[in-house]
Amino acid sequence: MLVLSATILVAGAFQLHPGAGQPVSTTRYVLLTFDDGPDPRYTPQVLSVLRQQGAKAVFFVVGKQVEAHPELLRDILAGGHTLGNHTFTHASINGKTPGEVLEEVRRTDSIVAEITGENLRWFRPPRGFYTERNYLTLQQAGKVVVMWDAGLEKERIKEPAALVDYLTFRVKGKDNLVLLLHDGDPDNSHDRTTTVEALPLLIDELRRLGYSFVDPSSVEGQEFISSYAVTHQRYK
Ligand SMILES: [Zn+2]
Repeated sequence: MLVLSATILVAGAFQLHPGAGQPVSTTRYVLLTFDDGPDPRYTPQVLSVLRQQGAKAVFFVVGKQVEAHPELLRDILAGGHTLGNHTFTHASINGKTPGEVLEEVRRTDSIVAEITGENLRWFRPPRGFYTERNYLTLQQAGKVVVMWDAGLEKERIKEPAALVDYLTFRVKGKDNLVLLLHDGDPDNSHDRTTTVEALPLLIDELRRLGYSFVDPSSVEGQEFISSYAVTHQRYK
């Protein structure tokens, strides 16, 4: 039943216009996802923008960041957002044994459950790398791997409006989108200030382009993510 509804949701992006016989795009959906937090420098600002804009998101949290900033995890949930698992150490899972992958997953599951009581269903591998063997291990552990269509941040682009333009250029014509942003920096290699500045511009622009924001905590939102996960597998 869940699978059937998800198919309808995605297929429903195009409908025949009654009378005209021309396909018209009726509904476009976008899911915002934030990786690498929680981080006291950026997560509160991201939550504030999302609250002002009335948009919900999935936060793929890193276990060691959760351990250091448990209060931010509660703030994310209080904002009506959804949590996902982004490993404990943020090391690539490629090259890890199934046992090591499960250890990364379970350490984060367990600290998140301890703080919030939440069970994490969605998983995103660090840097988006995973093997078929990893995928099967994660699946057996009840995790759903959620990838993305395009990432906002680009090292060479520092101007928030230019980042938004470049992102919307790359996803032009797509009706169902998952976007990757970052609200943290577990490896101390990136400043996320530009992300925070670009976020309200991005949300405005996506709305202007006709996108509705997926609420990942809703039944429809969960179906959207499940369906997306099935059709966007990329082993590396
Ligand atoms: Zn990451």
